[in-house]
Amino acid sequence: MTRPTFRFAPSPNGELHLGHAYSALLNQQLAQASAGRLLLRIEDIDTTRCTPEFEAGIFRDLEWLGFSWAEPVRRQSEHFAEYQAALQRLAREELVYPAFMSRGDIRAFITEREQRGENWPRDPDGAPLYPGIDKTLSTRERNRRIDAGLPFAWRLDVEAAMARIGTPLSWTEFTDETLGATSEVEARPRDWGDVVVARREVPTSYHLSVVVDDALQGVSHVVRGRDLFFATSVQRLLQQLLGLPKPAYFHHRLVLGPDGRKLSKSQAATGLSALRENGATPQAIRQLVGL
Ligand code: GLU
Repeated sequence: MTRPTFRFAPSPNGELHLGHAYSALLNQQLAQASAGRLLLRIEDIDTTRCTPEFEAGIFRDLEWLGFSWAEPVRRQSEHFAEYQAALQRLAREELVYPAFMSRGDIRAFITEREQRGENWPRDPDGAPLYPGIDKTLSTRERNRRIDAGLPFAWRLDVEAAMARIGTPLSWTEFTDETLGATSEVEARPRDWGDVVVARREVPTSYHLSVVVDDALQGVSHVVRGRDLFFATSVQRLLQQLLGLPKPAYFHHRLVLGPDGRKLSKSQAATGLSALRENGATPQAIRQLVGL
């Protein structure tokens, strides 16, 4: 049997906080318990928000915590060509289309529909679904707009994609922190509508690079926060379309702030570097996150 493979995949667009510490250490604990591999992936496709300073902070914090990973570290910004190849495959199969509506266009379109009494569908994050009207543009018109330099994003045609697959989609979800039992969860990618899979200036997106990398790195167990539970539906669909293996998932509890809300990268008080400077030890961090 191949070794179980886990990964911790932070984005260097802010400082790590207690929630990241819990996720990293839980991955480490599970990898150790199963004699598995533990990988570190730097998810830095957003080259405007990710910085080398934040990345250096991630390494500092993880080393201090006692998190140890198998080399090499995969840095997504070094692999755009691989994501582009996956995008081209989806484009060849006519499962993605260039979407030209700006945020303002989308808002105006939906407001107009809602004023007419239509109940416009929202995604699990509460954002209105993309109106897929430019799916019907002719190839000629698409090319004309692209050649004219109009901004666009590549969106997945979720209906076409589901029709292509033709069978119900699901994933295996572990039911608790010990990964002792599993249940099968129905994937519902339609809930997200036609998601962005790549942008003109960045030939990938969070969803596309995650599925390509999890497959390339042989990740068998994706252990990450509950905030990404619904994202798994989109990722399962992409895996299926691209013929990639199907990892098992555990979406763990989130470490909440004193106000009962999800921690954010801008909340300095729960940042690992601030806690360290105030004298916290790695052991104290484990206790704070309940490990
Ligand atoms: N890079 C993502 C984040 O920092 C995590 C992605 C994942 O674990 O799939 O939230």
